[in-house]
Amino acid sequence: NRKFFVGGNWKMNGDKKSLGDLINTLNSGKINANTDVVCGAPTIYLDFTRQKLDAKFGVAAQNCYKVAKGAFTGEISPAMIKDCGVGWVILGHSERRHVFGESDELIGQKVAHALAEGLGVIACIGEKLDEREGGITEKVVFEQTKVIADNVKDWSKVVIAYEPVWAIGTGKTATPQQAQEVHEKLRQWFKTNISEDVAKSIRIIYGGSVTGGTCKELASQADVDGFLVGGASLKPEFIEIINARE
Ligand code: 13P
Repeated sequence: NRKFFVGGNWKMNGDKKSLGDLINTLNSGKINANTDVVCGAPTIYLDFTRQKLDAKFGVAAQNCYKVAKGAFTGEISPAMIKDCGVGWVILGHSERRHVFGESDELIGQKVAHALAEGLGVIACIGEKLDEREGGITEKVVFEQTKVIADNVKDWSKVVIAYEPVWAIGTGKTATPQQAQEVHEKLRQWFKTNISEDVAKSIRIIYGGSVTGGTCKELASQADVDGFLVGGASLKPEFIEIINARE
């Protein structure tokens, strides 16, 4: 009974021409009504994307800052995101963590502020290859989840994206079994540490080299409630992924 959720993360890609073409393709595509779809646009194209994309699609920012306003050159606030009619933000993405050095603590503060301002949050977690090979996947994702959870009161506006870092942009999709194993453990973590209701209702989506070819079997796993898609979200193939559970 969890509604399937598919996010596209365009990252730092595209321009008005190519994103406009993509938006036209999405607007005219056949989209399963039982799926929430949210497109993560580059900051400078948030307004453009929200104006062009059909209202049945949500839009997300890819980051935001932890306070409402002030002398923070280059940052954007949740209030600004909302002012553009955009309802979501992606936080804690592995590229923010590992390329830009964001700490768990900062991500937690951003989650708290974005939720307080009324945005929906796609909160990302995931282990690196050496952590998986070292057998500490569970420990890593539980720690990341705890910091996020400490900053959440209302879980109805949170989606958890499990994105193993070794699967992002590498073409190495996690197998359906690998994804299901971690998703199931995360749901158990929610049951133990938050509540049975939240464990049942929270959407845990998978990200990392999801394609039209890999999406259907992943989508059939009991605890995989959708996807966060990078590269393939820039292609018409994204529609196949949105409809993976038809
Ligand atoms: P890819 O689908 O390109 O591997 O990216 C996944 C991702 O990071 C989505 O946030």
